[in-house]
Amino acid sequence: MRYIGRFAPSPTGPLHAGSLLAALASWLDARAQNGQWLVRIEDVDRPRCKPGADREILRQLAGCGLIPDVPVLWQSQRGPAYQSALDYLLANDRAYACACSNSEIDQALRSRGLVPRRGEERVYPGTCSLGLRGRQPRAWRLRLPEATEALVHWDDRRLGAQAEQVDQAVGDFVLKRADGLWAYQLAVVVDDAAQAVSHVVRGEDMAASTARQMLLQRALGLSTPSYHHVALLRDAEGRKLSKQNGAPSIVPGQAAVLDSIRMLGLTPIGRTLGELLMHAKNQWRAAQHRAAK
Ligand code: GLU
Repeated sequence: MRYIGRFAPSPTGPLHAGSLLAALASWLDARAQNGQWLVRIEDVDRPRCKPGADREILRQLAGCGLIPDVPVLWQSQRGPAYQSALDYLLANDRAYACACSNSEIDQALRSRGLVPRRGEERVYPGTCSLGLRGRQPRAWRLRLPEATEALVHWDDRRLGAQAEQVDQAVGDFVLKRADGLWAYQLAVVVDDAAQAVSHVVRGEDMAASTARQMLLQRALGLSTPSYHHVALLRDAEGRKLSKQNGAPSIVPGQAAVLDSIRMLGLTPIGRTLGELLMHAKNQWRAAQHRAAK
């Protein structure tokens, strides 16, 4: 199989040490397997995007020697592809329109004795799965398969055997949001397939989305890439480093790459950026071979 890997940042701010780590891991894995490495700007959630952050991220990656092999794809240009995927799902009764607001969903859950806690995933109770009963559509959701098929197993290259019962974890999840924006899950699945991505290497925070993405791939008749979720960088309080909790932007160059190489558990060797990356690639390849044995 031809190896195609990718780094898919959301341009909500410049790269910080955590996102550089994910970028470097995906680059090392692609290079270690003589594959192609792509960059995709995941700017579907327009209100969360910062103007200019996309260009800044690409500049930072280039300054770290991480240059994509094909032109960068912007998800904001991909609306028609997402619409065709949704149309296909609707035509096959694998998606439906939903009229529920969040407070209606909470109410429906409460009436079943399930009180969603603040910030917790609301498991959609399926209110609109049999039709809108005259109400106006707000969002579109995937219709999950029967419970046995909604139990998804996969073998993560780092985390090992994983399983999620998606109907219990999230329920019929959103593909197109009430504000008209495409949901991350649909966009990522359509684009990974359109770009023929064979290997996904990304932060561990995305592991929880994998089962949903696999169900979407199955519903759309697409193949499933291999997944490798890398450990997250955490701050002193144990929180994931993120733009939201103030992680500083990296200064592109050798020092940032050297830090990331260390944080991936590899030994930085070499005096130039090119040498550092080459030795890190060889160590990554050796580590993957050992892990596969
Ligand atoms: N766009 C997501 C993020 O920046 C990553 C998505 C993915 O790698 O699948 O967190």
